[in-house]
Amino acid sequence: MKVKVEKYPGLSIGSNGHLCFSGADCVRLAKQFGTPLYVISEDVFRDTCRAQRAAFEKHCPDAHISFSTKALTALALMRIAVQEGLGLDASSPGELFGALKAGCKPENTILHGNFKKAADLEFALGKKVGRIVVDSFEEIEELDSVARRMKVRARVQVRVNPGVEAHTFELLKVGMLDSKFGLPLQNGDALEAVRRILKKKSLDFMGVHYHIGSQILDPSPFRIAAERAMEFLLTLRREAGATVRELNIGGGLPVRYDSRHPMPTPEQFARQVCGTVKKMAKANGLDMPRIILEPGRSVAGPAGITLYTVGPVKRIPGIRDYVTVDGGLSDNVRPGLYGATYDGLLANKAASAARMKPFRVCGRHCETDTLFQSLRLPDPAYGDILAVLSTGAYNYSMSSNYNKFPRPAMVAVSKGKARLIVERETYEDLYRKDLPEGKG
Ligand code: PLP
Repeated sequence: MKVKVEKYPGLSIGSNGHLCFSGADCVRLAKQFGTPLYVISEDVFRDTCRAQRAAFEKHCPDAHISFSTKALTALALMRIAVQEGLGLDASSPGELFGALKAGCKPENTILHGNFKKAADLEFALGKKVGRIVVDSFEEIEELDSVARRMKVRARVQVRVNPGVEAHTFELLKVGMLDSKFGLPLQNGDALEAVRRILKKKSLDFMGVHYHIGSQILDPSPFRIAAERAMEFLLTLRREAGATVRELNIGGGLPVRYDSRHPMPTPEQFARQVCGTVKKMAKANGLDMPRIILEPGRSVAGPAGITLYTVGPVKRIPGIRDYVTVDGGLSDNVRPGLYGATYDGLLANKAASAARMKPFRVCGRHCETDTLFQSLRLPDPAYGDILAVLSTGAYNYSMSSNYNKFPRPAMVAVSKGKARLIVERETYEDLYRKDLPEGKG
């Protein structure tokens, strides 16, 4: 079946039959900037930022959206997120460094991580990070001692584990009890963590955080997690006399990876979460906590596509036909990592009437780096341009130099115009940190 291009924001087919993204001809982009090429639609990126803000602010007017930079850690895009009124979320000091470099105000940054070392905490506090989300008893002690040494007060949220099963890839489920993330609600650890924080003068308890997983197509786990969190807020008031100013619900909203499937809207998620929180706050006389949301995939994913040049087409009669492209595992690890699937089409044959046949699409790494188990394509040939859709999230940011392939360039397109926002790596870059003679 043909990919329904119109289901993807920003995509269209030009009068020459070429795929266009944000009005830019993808075949021309491939020629101008080379392949593999990450193409990000600035227009779609801005639209997704605005749509999520609008959805959550409609139900919770003071909701705050913090873009999870891990999804697409490119300075130009982080800067656009800031221009659109979003804060920036970091899961490492390196991401925090980028968030600040991109122009985010320190108070609008959040630092995550299940093991932040003393040096990481010191770095973050030195940069006046907005929130530190603590994830363990050890971290509470470490943060307290670093903050005291630096004579500052750290604003903290506590990452709790609500014990909610979300229906998504195994590696993307993190809100159930059996997870390395978060202090469990069920066994009292989360309550104990807040008690300990409240006793520390150097720590300012701001609120509760949870993140149940990523690419969650059904909004109901969001409602269940919000209910459990609100029950915890009541426990905190009753047992610890604690006031919770913020409820950070993490990320997890999905993106389209298949044009045939229906997609829930941000509005549906906002209604489930904000409706639950408002109802339970009102029924129990709790002040409404400020809702914070940390979307990564759903902001960046739809804004990106990847362009590849088709190489050899190998036909094994009676078995399978293969299409090779000039990228793969090092620029998109997701199919190999957890069987992620995408839509794809030939950008130079987007309007082709040729019969579609199934091909296994693989990369050029020394692994069986399958990008598509089976993709229907119209007569693919050496030199064609393959576009893989919805690759804006967790492609560039998870890329590697395996087999010493330089990372691709990234261009931002808007209203038909393209600008380079990440340069293609060079072979020199690949060995920049090597010390062939050794040192020391
Ligand atoms: N917040 C936290 C704490 C996360 O761990 C993640 C993803 O791993 C996110 C936000 C972003 O999630 P998503 O990309 O699914 O929106």
